[in-house]
Amino acid sequence: MIIKHKFILIAFIAIAVAVILTGRGKTYNRDIYGVFDTVSNISIHSTKDTTADYEQLLKKLDSQLNVYNENSIISKLNNGELCALPPELTVFLSDAASYSSYLGDYFDISLNPVISSWTLAEKNLLLPDDIKEKLSLVGIDALYIDYEANTAKIKEDGASINLGAVAKGYAANVLADRMRADAIGSALINLGGNVYAVGAKPDGSDWNIAICDPENTAQTAVTVKCTDSAVVTSGDYERYFELDGKKYHHIIDPKTGYPSDSGLSSVTIIDRDAMLCDVLSTAIFVAGANKAQEILSKFGGEAILIENNNIYYTDGLVEKIELNSDKYFLIPLQNR
Ligand code: AMP
Ligand code: MG
Repeated sequence: MIIKHKFILIAFIAIAVAVILTGRGKTYNRDIYGVFDTVSNISIHSTKDTTADYEQLLKKLDSQLNVYNENSIISKLNNGELCALPPELTVFLSDAASYSSYLGDYFDISLNPVISSWTLAEKNLLLPDDIKEKLSLVGIDALYIDYEANTAKIKEDGASINLGAVAKGYAANVLADRMRADAIGSALINLGGNVYAVGAKPDGSDWNIAICDPENTAQTAVTVKCTDSAVVTSGDYERYFELDGKKYHHIIDPKTGYPSDSGLSSVTIIDRDAMLCDVLSTAIFVAGANKAQEILSKFGGEAILIENNNIYYTDGLVEKIELNSDKYFLIPLQNR
């Protein structure tokens, strides 16, 4: 009997401490510019402001992974150098390469020669005429990773990699892990639309993450509730240029070398692993709604797909998704 009372008392104290800890502290907010070519925001609920440390961490990752930074490891790899990698980047790069092998028709980090042509096209406002030639340089086997020595090298002349479709997801994972290690129970990370909700809101309720209306980015189409999860979107409205009245967006179909036209205008993936979300949002955007369930069954994650005026969602989101606009219809993906 005494033992039981003791147990109840300890449980009571534990709950009281938890309440005091979550109730204490305040929200610290930081905007971060120039990382991964986007604007980021970090908001933490804590007893002290550690957001400057997180900004440093993001800047370090950007300086290592950004293809547009000429001193980054990726730029050196693309110059044909044999590069020493910090062990955690050996793991990241080999994970990104594995996804590219499995999903190569839709997602491939070795697509950089084609992406470069489109970047030039955007700058000169002139359609590229070398896409076929550039496509012949694509293939993830060109990237050689030595797991024991922690080095990497690109073996084929003209081959190169671009982590634009996966680096922000990876960075969000690294940042969320660091916050957990710092005992931050509630935070929201937003890396240019790649969102990570660490824990629940400070009051214990779910976060509400709004997803853009692809036709009018000043408005939102749906809201999804989540706790301790990433919410990552790929959309044709995020980056594009127009030529002769036609829109050329930034997500490339590796089979054609041209902006994907699967019929989807936005794909959101929800999962605890932000890197998986980033890979799959790009891959399913290219693969199209028909292939979405098959890809999700293999890799995991919940999804929200916008195709014309229909918003499709997977089973796990039934209780979590809410329509914000009467322009759209909300439909279970399995009824498509
Ligand atoms: P996301 O916004 O995550 O879908 O990533 C798009 C960015 O990744 C683009 O701006 C390109 O730099 C790069 N990219 C475009 N298409 C692909 C693709 N099919 N596979 C891998 N990376 C891509
Ligand atoms: Mg992506």
